[in-house]
Amino acid sequence: MTLLRHTSPNEVERSALTVNPAKTCQPIGAMYAALGIHNCLPHSHGSQGCCSYHRSTLTRHYKEPVMAATSSFTEGTAVFGGQANLFQAIETIFSTYKPDVIAVHTTCLSETIGDDLTQIIAKALEEGKIPPGKTVIHANTPSYVGSHVSGFANMVKGMVHYLAEPSAQRLRAINLIPGWVEPSDMRELKRICSMMGVDVIVFPDTSGVLDTPHTGRFTMFPSGGVTVGTLQQTGKSQKTLALGPSASGPAAAMLETKCKVPGEIIELPIGMRATDRMIETLRRTAMVDVPKALDDERGRLADVISDMHQYFYHKRVALWGDPDQLVSLTEFLCDLDMFPVYVLTGTPCKDFDDRISAAMRGRVPNPKIRQGSCADMFLMHQWIKQESVDLLIGNTYGKYIARDENIPFLRYGFPIMDRVGHSYFPTVGYTGGLRLLEKMLDVLLDHKDRNCTEETFELVM
Ligand code: SF4
Repeated sequence: MTLLRHTSPNEVERSALTVNPAKTCQPIGAMYAALGIHNCLPHSHGSQGCCSYHRSTLTRHYKEPVMAATSSFTEGTAVFGGQANLFQAIETIFSTYKPDVIAVHTTCLSETIGDDLTQIIAKALEEGKIPPGKTVIHANTPSYVGSHVSGFANMVKGMVHYLAEPSAQRLRAINLIPGWVEPSDMRELKRICSMMGVDVIVFPDTSGVLDTPHTGRFTMFPSGGVTVGTLQQTGKSQKTLALGPSASGPAAAMLETKCKVPGEIIELPIGMRATDRMIETLRRTAMVDVPKALDDERGRLADVISDMHQYFYHKRVALWGDPDQLVSLTEFLCDLDMFPVYVLTGTPCKDFDDRISAAMRGRVPNPKIRQGSCADMFLMHQWIKQESVDLLIGNTYGKYIARDENIPFLRYGFPIMDRVGHSYFPTVGYTGGLRLLEKMLDVLLDHKDRNCTEETFELVM
């Protein structure tokens, strides 16, 4: 924190140095996605340290125990490869913990050694190490490229690769790939679909896994998650709706290639306009009507926007996080007449600038948009030193800047390690939009109450 006080506003061109990254590592995303399969044990093919870090990061964010196994690499494994360790792990996990699925993801070390997971899993099957009716799937997640978002996308694609079954038969169901959102958001998406009478297969689905009720009893595998049988059915669905090109696009593309299920990729339904697009796509695909109850939710969101517009108007906002979330958030903030002037993601994303610019539609004066490994929290702080903002929106790591610069701060994204609520209250859909408005107003108005002069202190706002 003390060091942050010395952040200079003078930017220096960097190509090989990241200071306080605005992303986490690939396997964390793969582990999170794998937890969205019912009765699945994520498995980290690497050393124990990686697995501990990934589990603890998820536990700190969700405040839930996160079960995962590791190949426990040693110096010998680093020289001779990890096949023997993975064979041993597969046998031990199936005989001791009895999951339906083991979802293996690689790490920097196993990727550098060059372990071929496709071949190792095929050999395990051939040698009878995988019991009948059980499955091992995998995703390659070397963390020296990509981020937790690509790790998530790779594991969801792995689900399709291993489990979706091609079929000439077409069912009414729509595959809904929710992207990297909270368990609460996945629950909300299912609620919206059920209100509309749309039959959906949501995968992965971490609701009921990472937001479980306290019962006093330990359960190795919580009741939530999409089942293997349901994942197999995704190859028969009439369509795939992928929310968020970065996190869900690759799985939708694979479903189209492998099972000929046509896919449509739209931005995450965060904010009114993006939610409208999702509802319209669902309505059109399933040929259903939008129920009045959903219309009313939209109306309540519109009501709060118009009631409190003066507190949003032309507020300068700095945002960091995951590409899919940032695109929809940017559009929502612009629709509120706010100015998201700084938008940055550590996740490499080639079309990020174009997507953010499209969301802004020329409504923000002189925005700064950056992606990739050098788009980090240090750069964000430098921009803020150059010209400050009225609001910060991003993960927990922004609290240092918020304190240093005395700027209102709304925690959003991953990871949030110092607050709760994100896993229980959605931010997608119209009610999610309402919650975002409430949280923004809370921090903005609290700041105003604390810092305004006595003459401008208001009781009614
Ligand atoms: S960056 Fe690589 S070595 Fe570090 S925790 Fe992630 S996978 Fe392991």
